[in-house]
Amino acid sequence: MNKRSKKKRMKRIMKAVGFAFAMTVFSAAVYVTQIKEVNVNYLGQNISFKTMASTVNDALKEKNIEIKEGENISTDIYSRLGKSNNIVIEKPVVLAMAEPVAVEPKVEEPVEPAPVEKEVVFEQEPEVVKEVKTTKSATSRGVVRTTWAPDVTEVEDGVLETADGEVIEYSQVMQLEATAYCPCYSCCGKHPGNKWYNVTATGTTAKVGTIAVDPQVIPLGTKVYIEGLNGAKNYGYAVAEDTGGAIKGNIIDLYFNTHGETVIWGRQQVKVYILK
Ligand SMILES: [Zn+2]
Repeated sequence: MNKRSKKKRMKRIMKAVGFAFAMTVFSAAVYVTQIKEVNVNYLGQNISFKTMASTVNDALKEKNIEIKEGENISTDIYSRLGKSNNIVIEKPVVLAMAEPVAVEPKVEEPVEPAPVEKEVVFEQEPEVVKEVKTTKSATSRGVVRTTWAPDVTEVEDGVLETADGEVIEYSQVMQLEATAYCPCYSCCGKHPGNKWYNVTATGTTAKVGTIAVDPQVIPLGTKVYIEGLNGAKNYGYAVAEDTGGAIKGNIIDLYFNTHGETVIWGRQQVKVYILK
């Protein structure tokens, strides 16, 4: 081998080494930018870790953190992770409420009341609370549940058909996030006996089929049909007759009779069909 070709060969080797080095630096940089810091406060216990997962759900799965019934998460589990993320998973504090007289004994809810002993003092004698009449059935868990609506299929543009064969015409459909509320103090800040207890923003009595909306997104008085997505149950027919402090933008709040049901619902994606 002469000197000239040896030099050429060396040059080629140096080029290859340089390229490999550049690729290593590049992939390391990509790796670093994909690492996210996650701090989870799980029922008061802090768990910090780094992850390449892209969503909150994936990161929690990676650490085998499961959100159990009765626990709430501070963020949408399907949202994308940022560079650093603080997630709180907690059990809502259920206040022990003094039962108003002459009200039927409550069916036990699955939520364990927190060991907070708070006596509620009524400013005036609590009135007899009228039972909200809805179709409900007691399940084996002892929860008074809302009867879910049947499945719907789109038969043509703007026309749905329910599994029961009912035809529903709609003019618009939106995909929104739906939270849940009940008349309890922790949801609405009012005790039975308060003049505004269980009264909606439009002055109606809240009942199953009442939803709270941002009137900028869905005008008050609008009739809708709500279909649950990603395995969520169908809430069905509802009227936008309430508003709420946290209900701003693409979010609605579904009314349930009991707080246990609101906890079970949590936060779900829904399709809201605006009815004609
Ligand atoms: Zn509640």
